[in-house]
Amino acid sequence: MPPVRAMVILRPFLAAMPVLSARSRAAPVPSIRTAGRTVRPSIRRPALLAAALAAALAAAAHVPLSAQGLSPQEQRIVRHVDAHADEAIAFLERVVNVNSGTLNPDGVRQVGRMFQAPLDSLGFDARWIELPDSLRRAGHLFAYRRGTQGKRVLLIGHLDTVFERDDAFQRFVRQGGTATGPGVNDMKGGDVVILYALKALHDAGALEGTTITVAFTGDEESPGRPLAIARHDLIEAGRNSDVALEFETGARDTLVEYATVARRSSSGWTLTVRGRTAHSSGVFSEGTGSGAIYEAARILTAFHEELRGEPYLTFNPGVIVGGTDVRYEAETSRGTAFGKTNVVAQTAIVTGDIRTLTDEQLQRTHERMRMIVARHLPRTEAEIAFTEGYPSMPPTPGNQRLLDLLNGVNGSLGAPRMEALDPGRRGAADVSFVAPYVDALAGLGANGTGAHGPNETIDLESFPLQVKRAALLIYRLTR
Ligand SMILES: [Zn+2]
Repeated sequence: MPPVRAMVILRPFLAAMPVLSARSRAAPVPSIRTAGRTVRPSIRRPALLAAALAAALAAAAHVPLSAQGLSPQEQRIVRHVDAHADEAIAFLERVVNVNSGTLNPDGVRQVGRMFQAPLDSLGFDARWIELPDSLRRAGHLFAYRRGTQGKRVLLIGHLDTVFERDDAFQRFVRQGGTATGPGVNDMKGGDVVILYALKALHDAGALEGTTITVAFTGDEESPGRPLAIARHDLIEAGRNSDVALEFETGARDTLVEYATVARRSSSGWTLTVRGRTAHSSGVFSEGTGSGAIYEAARILTAFHEELRGEPYLTFNPGVIVGGTDVRYEAETSRGTAFGKTNVVAQTAIVTGDIRTLTDEQLQRTHERMRMIVARHLPRTEAEIAFTEGYPSMPPTPGNQRLLDLLNGVNGSLGAPRMEALDPGRRGAADVSFVAPYVDALAGLGANGTGAHGPNETIDLESFPLQVKRAALLIYRLTR
């Protein structure tokens, strides 16, 4: 899923965001109106501040290890990451240069094999998980280590990208401290962070006795349906873990880097409206009524007037077709409509999405939408159907504790503190499927820009820091 860049500072978010009781699906709905509002600080010289952040991150890479509050084993882990930074980037280049668009199963499997071999050599049991043919997806790479020590940790990545074989954007190109390429930050960079963090832990003997699952899905950008099958193994891995760390693109702005303690759900709806077709001169009459298009407009206006404004709730009609003869194909999101100005419309179809911070908010919004739909203008009928989607990852005290632990790692590395990203600024992702079962932290992958676009970049300067953070976080969780 495409990350949303944190372009504005959202400090009020931390104070305003409701922290829900752990795993409570019936948690109270956020009621703080200011929570979703973005606030722009008076930054006079953003370029200077950006340079200051970059300098702080760079400095973190060069503080003497002895000054950093790292144990000898942790120092060894950090040294391994530094010594293999160029190797990690060369490996990233190789995996980016293999096309793995979600609908290119051969490419997704090939990228999976490129990670499978090194994971096997680190003592993981790495296997390819096949999906039924009907899902038309490549499958997933999962790798397991089972022990008895510390927390059971699930590391989440994905092998696929939005760039299919016919896309013009196919190659990794390095330009000094950055590189462009399909999936460099979303999220082959994050996958490489995971692999090189595990290599450093292995080198220090720190994987011994740990329970770690690596889950690289092959269809995150366009998951196979039904999701219950496409995400079965991920959900099982979540049930058998205590903590999930997800390595999609990191978010940062001129002042601060962010981690993700909450993500909104993303699901869909289809509104189907029917009216009585008749000569337009009879519209509004008792026999003809208002027609399908007026009814669709009434419903959408009521959604807009009555449901809009609740923090973290958004719903967007993306397509509308209406007339006397209407066809809409959900698979391709394409439709056609025929109608005449002097004929009352018989059918209207609207499809859209809903994003919420909690499942309770989603269910309540469904109910309110159903009630609006049920009112009906004269001689019209309407129904709304809701489609399955990505669940939400609500902010919990456990997720916040993981961020605190990460900031302990940042402190030891001499790196700046990270803040919690406003969930309103981030899309749904695979970590949401396991959020009900674990404490979760997301957005721990590579920094970069332009995910899903032809200028997707990765910041190679801060890349070793992301690997160190990941390695030390996993290390401290598994002691
Ligand atoms: Zn992604």
